[in-house]
Amino acid sequence: MKIGFIGLGNMGAPMAANLVRAGHAVSGFDVAGTVVDGAKQAQSAAEAARGMDVVITMLPNGEILRSVYAEIIPASTAGAVLIDCSTVDVQSARDVAQDAVNAGLLAVDAPVSGGIGGAAAGTLTFMAGGSDAGFAMAAPLFEIMGQKAVHCGESGAGQAAKICNNMILGATMVATCEAFALADKLNLDRQKMFDVVSTSSGYSWSMNAYCPAPGIGPKSPADNGYKPGFAAELMLKDLRLSQQAAAAVDADTPMGALALALYRSFVEEEDGRGKDFSAMLPRFEARGRSLD
Ligand code: NAD
Repeated sequence: MKIGFIGLGNMGAPMAANLVRAGHAVSGFDVAGTVVDGAKQAQSAAEAARGMDVVITMLPNGEILRSVYAEIIPASTAGAVLIDCSTVDVQSARDVAQDAVNAGLLAVDAPVSGGIGGAAAGTLTFMAGGSDAGFAMAAPLFEIMGQKAVHCGESGAGQAAKICNNMILGATMVATCEAFALADKLNLDRQKMFDVVSTSSGYSWSMNAYCPAPGIGPKSPADNGYKPGFAAELMLKDLRLSQQAAAAVDADTPMGALALALYRSFVEEEDGRGKDFSAMLPRFEARGRSLD
């Protein structure tokens, strides 16, 4: 297939490289001038989209996505499929998809889970929204870049799944970290705490697969000085998107709102920027009680 790839950052570059390795003709564009081995370097987003069967975007946010789609929709060939893998707000995902469909294109929102490691290894999970025809065209590429793709529903459903998942993740990580900090103060050994919780009803991905306590459980960013991994500021971004969506549809999400407040102060007022999101554990460790 002829594939345009726009946004060759930490995630986009290795995803594009996997498409090149699988034998596809990739034309890449990034405002930073990034080049991917084996891909043609386009001079603009429109050039990367022109004449392509598929155009993939992997961009920082909804505002940038809207401006890039305004450029690529008129440049794309009728019947082409536009796949946006960025994490953006649900409304932007729906709006750009509608614009694409109105112009005779197919559109799929397909945010990912799995991080930079998953992008490099081709083991991402894609959660997709859009028509059956769009998903069917995108599916073979999801297979190259990932290990699982779920068609979640109409446009925006992929983004909805992503922010619901990450709202659970943020709240669960906070709960796991505060429980370790409490256990410390109760003189409960961290390894014993892990042995019990990881096989009891408090278990979760945060505890079992990504334990925030150094030296406990499988290897995780805690064992590497809390170098990300999944940075606290990316968790903050996703929690903001979840609360923006919740406000738009009048959903009551108090745990998500509290997780957002904690990550906001961690990143913006404390020393969380540049650290893994599991660095909430040393944060709690260093504090006394903040509620009565
Ligand atoms: P990144 O900042 O490394 O990459 C974004 C790239 O987009 C940059 O290289 C930037 O130069 C480029 N860009 C910005 N504006 C552009 C424009 N107008 N035209 C072309 N290129 C433009 O970010 P990332 O870590 O690769 O993340 C990309 C997306 O994936 C984000 O939406 C993020 O939330 C999501 N995501 C990231 C991770 C992760 O672990 N990094 C995990 C899951 C999802």
